Amino acid sequence: MPFVKVNKNTCITAGVCWSLAPDIFEYDPTTGKTRIKDPYRKDDTSFESIGEIPERMKEIAKGAADVCPTLSITVE
Ligand code: SF4
Repeated sequence: MPFVKVNKNTCITAGVCWSLAPDIFEYDPTTGKTRIKDPYRKDDTSFESIGEIPERMKEIAKGAADVCPTLSITVE
């Protein structure tokens, strides 16, 4: 299954990813950054959030990665 990662060090909380893919990304009130949403979240620290998503959601995640203004999202 594809992995999605958010680099919290570079995320500026622009919110584009939540708008495009609200099933995958959400605002984390603890850090003020974006994190991967449950049930896909696998690891979440102060500097990154990592998740595993179904194959059918890969294209929407890549679409969010493409428009993230700080290139903070990677999908592989
Ligand atoms: S689009 Fe990029 S910068 Fe904006 S909230 Fe999402 S990860 Fe952070």
